[in-house]
Amino acid sequence: MPGTILVLDPVATSRIVTKVRLSQAFYHVEQASDIETAVDIATRVHPDLVLANMGQDDTILALPARLRAIEGLGTLPVVFMGEEHGGAFTLRALRAGADDYIARPFDEVQLLARVRNLIRIGDVARELDLRHDVSDVAGFGEAGAAFTPQTTCALISYSPEAAMAWRNALGPFHIGRLIIGSRADAVVQRPDGTPPDAFVISADLASKGEGLRLLSELRSASGTRNAAIIIAVEDGDTNTAALALDMGANDVITMPFAAEELALRLQKHLTHKHRADQLRDNVARGLRLASVDPLTGLYNRRYALPHLDRIALEAQANATPYAVMVLDMDRFKRINDQFGHFVGDQVLAHVAKTLRLNLRPEDLIGRLGGEEFLVALPGVTPTKANVVATRLCEAVRTTPVTLSDGPANALFVSISIGLATSARGHHAAKEMMQEADLALYEAKAAGRNTISTHSFAA
Ligand code: GH3
Ligand code: MG
Ligand code: MG
Repeated sequence: MPGTILVLDPVATSRIVTKVRLSQAFYHVEQASDIETAVDIATRVHPDLVLANMGQDDTILALPARLRAIEGLGTLPVVFMGEEHGGAFTLRALRAGADDYIARPFDEVQLLARVRNLIRIGDVARELDLRHDVSDVAGFGEAGAAFTPQTTCALISYSPEAAMAWRNALGPFHIGRLIIGSRADAVVQRPDGTPPDAFVISADLASKGEGLRLLSELRSASGTRNAAIIIAVEDGDTNTAALALDMGANDVITMPFAAEELALRLQKHLTHKHRADQLRDNVARGLRLASVDPLTGLYNRRYALPHLDRIALEAQANATPYAVMVLDMDRFKRINDQFGHFVGDQVLAHVAKTLRLNLRPEDLIGRLGGEEFLVALPGVTPTKANVVATRLCEAVRTTPVTLSDGPANALFVSISIGLATSARGHHAAKEMMQEADLALYEAKAAGRNTISTHSFAA
C-alpha cells in the first residue's frame, strides 16, 4: 500500500471522484465531509497526506495548522484543491500553510506525482524525527542551535536576465543570500566550502530538460543531497512538472509566478531543511556520544568490545596474527587519594593520549572502565606486539603529566600490561581477553610497571 490519504470535501460527488482516482493508484482513502471529522480521523489514523477542498470561505484555511498541532502529525503534508485555476488560489493555499494547491479536474499524472513526492518528503521527515527521538531517549539528544544560519539560495534560470528578475522579485521577502548561479558552478563547491541551501532551477536551461539533469546531479552530490530544490516549469508543461517531482525535486512552480508564491515555497522548504539538518546533526552527535568515552575521548567498552570481535574474526578468516592487551594504571587509587579525583581524571586523560599517540591509526584503543584500557593490534606478530607493549609501558612511565591546576611538580605514573598474542589468528576475542587478563594479573604480581605475555603459538 503506497499510503493513506485523507480526503476532506463537503461535496459528496466530488469526494467520491477523488477517492476513486486515488484508490485506482492503490492509495488507501479515508473520507471526511467537515473539518471536525477530518481532525478526528487524522488523529486516529495518522494519514500520509491530506487533500482538502479549499472552498470559498476561510474556515478551511485553519486546517493545516490544526492538523500539524496534533502529536505525531507535525510534518503532515496538506494539499488544497479547488475548481479555480490561477496563482491567486495557490497563494491563498500557501499562505494558509498548505503544501500546494491543485485545480480540478485533476491532471492525473501531476496529481499522483505530487502525492508521491509529498508522501516521500513526509516519510523522510518522520524517519528523522524518529531517529532523533531514539537518541533523545538514550540521553544523547541536545537542543539544536537556536540561531538559524544565514541561508544561501542559488537561482539558476534559462537566462541571466531571468535569474536577475527572480532575485529582484524575491528581494523584499528576506530569504537570505540570493546568488545567481550558472549550470556549471552549481555543482562546484563554493569557495567557503558550503553549498547553497536551496536552488531554484528552470526546467529548461541552455537546452530542453537540462534543469532536470542538473537536479539529478545535485541530488547525487554529497554537498547538495539535502538541498531544497524547486524546479520552475512552463505553464501547462505538466509532464515536466511530474517528472521533476519524481526525480527528487522538493517542489515545482509554474512560470510566470508571483514573487510571493516562490518566497512562500522557498521559506517552507528552507525551514524544513534547517530542521532536518539539525536533526541529522543531533543523530550523528548521539552516535558519537554512544561510542566515545567523554573523559578520554577513547572508544568506550560498548563500542570497543564488538570492534575487537570484528578484528578477531578478520584475523581468523585470513589466518593473520593479532594481539590484545589489557592495560591497568598502577596504584591509581593513591593518585586520587593524594591529589583528588579531579587530578585523577586529568591523569587518566593524559595516559589515554600517550597511549593513542604510540599506536597506529588502525589499532583499536578503548577504555574498558575505571583505569583500565584495551588495545588490539590487527596483523601484528607476537614479537612485534611485545615491542609495542614495551613502548607503551615506557611512554607512560616517562611522559610527565602536566596538570592545569595541581601539584607544582610534574606527576609520573605507570601502567601494567597483560598481553595475549595469536600467531595465526586462530583464537577468538573472548579467549584473548581472558589470557590478557591473566597476564595482567601476573604483571601486577611481578611488581607493576611491566608486561606479561601469554602467547598462542599455533
Ligand atoms: P593496582 O596497581 O593494583 O591496579 O592499584 P590501583 O590503585 O590502580 O587499583 P584499584 O583497583 O585498587 O583502584 C583503582 C582506582 O581507580 C579506584 C578509583 O578511585 C580509580 N578510578 C576509577 N575510575 C576513575 C575515574 O574515572 N576517575 C578517577 N579520578 N579515578 C578513577
Ligand atoms: Mg590499577
Ligand atoms: Mg583496575
